[in-house]
Amino acid sequence: MGFVVSVGMEVHAELLTKTKMFCGCPNAFGGEVNTRVCPVCLGLPGSLPVINRAAVRHVLATALALNCSIARRSLFHRKNYFYPDLPKGYQISQYEETNPIGYHGHLELPTGKRIGIKRVHLEEDTGKLLHLPDGRSGIDYNRAGVPLMEIVTDFPPDIHSSEEAKQYLQYLRLTLIYLGVCDGKMEQGSLRCEPNISIAEEGSKSLGVKTELKNLGSFKAVALGIQHEAERMEAAVAKGETLRQETRGWDEKAERSYPMRVKEFESDYRYFPDPDLPPMKFEDAFIEEVRNSLPELPTARHRRYTSSFGLSDYDAELLIAEPAWAEFFDACVNKGGEPKAVCNWMNGDFAKMLNESGTVVSESRITPDHLADLVALVSSGQISGKMAKEVFETSFATGQMPRDIAQKQGLSQLSDKEAIRKIVIAVLNENADSAQKYRSGKTGVLGFLVGKVIQQSSGRANPQLVNELLIEELKR
Ligand code: ZN
Ligand code: MN
Repeated sequence: MGFVVSVGMEVHAELLTKTKMFCGCPNAFGGEVNTRVCPVCLGLPGSLPVINRAAVRHVLATALALNCSIARRSLFHRKNYFYPDLPKGYQISQYEETNPIGYHGHLELPTGKRIGIKRVHLEEDTGKLLHLPDGRSGIDYNRAGVPLMEIVTDFPPDIHSSEEAKQYLQYLRLTLIYLGVCDGKMEQGSLRCEPNISIAEEGSKSLGVKTELKNLGSFKAVALGIQHEAERMEAAVAKGETLRQETRGWDEKAERSYPMRVKEFESDYRYFPDPDLPPMKFEDAFIEEVRNSLPELPTARHRRYTSSFGLSDYDAELLIAEPAWAEFFDACVNKGGEPKAVCNWMNGDFAKMLNESGTVVSESRITPDHLADLVALVSSGQISGKMAKEVFETSFATGQMPRDIAQKQGLSQLSDKEAIRKIVIAVLNENADSAQKYRSGKTGVLGFLVGKVIQQSSGRANPQLVNELLIEELKR
């Protein structure tokens, strides 16, 4: 019996703002516990929340980037539940079908596959429980009230494998980073993903009971967790067990899920509009202003690199992995660098040098001018590919322009035909036996002779010219 896996994705992204969602406390990661708190984010009686405009703008930009409809009037609701990390006893969130800032959108992957988005809404983060080795527990409220965006995929799900889930998450994360709304650091918890997984018999019209997975701290964990969960469910069904709707945790070390709690249903939360917060109204002019400010997004960039420049999917993916890296590439190409050559230098030597020196592109002495210059020196035949590697290394270390380095070190490639011919004739005289072999049909010795000529020229002779002139002289 075959099964179809369906995966819904719920992603929480902490927004990059100066202050928290409803108060003036700084929004930052880490720091001394309970130092970024005030009566509002501690939920003290009598305190009143004020909406953070920058956070609203971030969610609107994301919703537009994800092709969502925008609510003209959007409310905040109270989601009630009791847990120590929630000082007010409720989380301010957004409820209902078309009330969230964005709804009914999609994210398009470079493959052309569209993943439907049900909603993009704004809420606040909770505090963090800390469990001490001596058995006591503490709470850090620095994170309580940090602006949090929730992005939920459509139902029924468009995602049917762990690989697709991973790709969706990768492109969603990149989109948020390009928009500048979230830093995407899964290891710090600023991007958190909770997939829900269900299996159904092939051909079945209804979806199976779903489980939600928590504690997935990396892309690897997301892909592995989904795959294992689907396999666990299939095995349970095969044994005749009945699956139940529940929340399970992922144990990264043991690579298996464990039961956490039976899933709450929405009615348990007693949602109602927050009487302390006014409705948000979105005017066309504001929506259009934000829409016009959107940058070129990763999927569009990937498509431009592959279709206009003929780069491979693999190369395009490496280039768009970071906005600064993609911008460096575009700047080089705009300065006349041949795209394929620029790409090869970047994803090859440049990436390796940055990696080895532990620096990022924005800290490097290499600017787009340097790389465009290097590419031009090679393509015009002024220096060989081998020389270019040395020049690039010097340029990386010193910040000198490749052109200047080549000139100073006398590295310029020898392309003077008559000068090369002199060396060719000398080499043929010294290696008469090899020349004889070639003339008797053993053309394989040509490589040896080319090497000799280049050696005699101290590595400067243009290999293509050496090749041509050798054959010319051998045939004479
Ligand atoms: Zn506060
Ligand atoms: Mn949420």
